Amino acid sequence: KPFIRFENVTKSFGSQTTAVDDLTLSIYEREFFVLLGPSGCGKTTLLRMLGGFEQPTSGRVLLDGQDLSGVPPYRRPVNMMFQSYALFPHMSVEKNIAFGLKQEGMPKAQIGERVQRMLKLVKLEKYASRKPHQLSGGQRQRVALARALAKRPKVLLLDEPLGALDKKLREETQFELMDLQQELGLTFVIVTHDQDEAMTMADRIAVMDAGKVLQVATPAEIYEAPNSRFVAEFIGNINIFDGQIVEKTGSAARIRDKSGTEFQIALGSNAQADGSAGLAVRPEKLQITRERPADAVNAIDGEVWDIAYMGDLTLYNLKLDDGRIIKISTINSRRRVEDALTWHDRAWVSFAPDAG
Ligand code: ADP
Ligand code: MG
Repeated sequence: KPFIRFENVTKSFGSQTTAVDDLTLSIYEREFFVLLGPSGCGKTTLLRMLGGFEQPTSGRVLLDGQDLSGVPPYRRPVNMMFQSYALFPHMSVEKNIAFGLKQEGMPKAQIGERVQRMLKLVKLEKYASRKPHQLSGGQRQRVALARALAKRPKVLLLDEPLGALDKKLREETQFELMDLQQELGLTFVIVTHDQDEAMTMADRIAVMDAGKVLQVATPAEIYEAPNSRFVAEFIGNINIFDGQIVEKTGSAARIRDKSGTEFQIALGSNAQADGSAGLAVRPEKLQITRERPADAVNAIDGEVWDIAYMGDLTLYNLKLDDGRIIKISTINSRRRVEDALTWHDRAWVSFAPDAG
């Protein structure tokens, strides 16, 4: 049973902008749900409608079966942590966390107790009397998180919560947020434009573009079986061979790409195997070798154009004779061997029929 439901929700700003376009989406209780999409696709607007900071132009937002139309933000069992954190600069950490509770009229002793618990939760006990400007970016983020959690919402909304943090801290904080969500048993709805972040944290992801949801699925499903070219290209790296289906037998097909190369492919459940088609293959599903592998079903040769050694992985760009670039990644599970490929070498890229 859905806990949060957007039903045919549209939000227009003036006559020009449709930020959210007839969108229907269900989120379950205790889910770690991520809204992912490029800047301007309507993520923040969708979150703000759930928080009660914007009203839909049409459609409804439901929580636990209740229509939220006309329910003001403070009456919703939902709290939002804003992109900018929006901490009060002249107030201590403690007072920032206590602010919403005071406004609610909670007794003083109870506020003190709650604030202490929140400080402990986000590991800021020693910083209670500091002002926001005396904290690091990561600590400020945790204050904002503690403040948003202090009122014990059933749903926590986080708009780009880690955007201001550097890479290392961001990755650590991703795991902290996941632990926290588990521990508190809350429903988290998080907005991000960062696909790695979404893949790391989400139970399910909704990929958005231009005010619409294109696919809702687990990270693995989205990565392995994207339902559209947009989703395939937005999540991770991918090679797409555009061509025509020339023969189809059961679950196998042959596809001829623009340059006349033919590939044998296995048709997955997402495949639409008629006429023109795009064969999409992730870089790690491709092999790169100096010679054409004897047993290769699908292989093309080209010139090694770029090599990026990343420690755990090596990324290759192979330039085909018609100028197209194919991206290949290999795992460096062993030490680099002497006959490693180098720039401008001729090489073969090959893949199995079920790689796409
Ligand atoms: P995202 O969070 O995915 O970057 P937003 O929800 O912020 O996207 O914005 C979606 C679209 O709606 C954008 O084109 C943006 O300019 C527009 N928009 C958002 N808020 C307003 C507003 N208050 N007034 C006018 N246009 C807005
Ligand atoms: Mg936004």
